[in-house]
Amino acid sequence: MAQKYSSKINKIRTFALSLIFVGFFVMYIGVFFRESVIVMTIFMLLGLLFMVASTVVYFWIGMLSTKAVQVICPSCQKPTKILGRVDMCMHCREPLTLDRSLEGREFDENYNRKKAKS
Ligand SMILES: [Zn+2]
Repeated sequence: MAQKYSSKINKIRTFALSLIFVGFFVMYIGVFFRESVIVMTIFMLLGLLFMVASTVVYFWIGMLSTKAVQVICPSCQKPTKILGRVDMCMHCREPLTLDRSLEGREFDENYNRKKAKS
């Protein structure tokens, strides 16, 4: 059903990891501009900026993890974390909710946005 969704924490973690790779890539491009110290420095700093951003995101995940509610997944019996109103089991991708009025409904990440508006 909702295969395209993955747990939010996992999603952010993937994002942080990709930032590191982007940082490395930008620094690598800088090597091609060895003749110009200024251009190379700009690329190096830009790459470093991505690395710093990644560190910030990792720190943010840590903060989110402490806020997330730990539950035992009813489907696979493993402990998982719920972030926001609806989220997914990290292990079996079972949609989980803390809101009883949403129970049994089809998984939709928009429920989180509606809560933010009201
Ligand atoms: Zn599960």
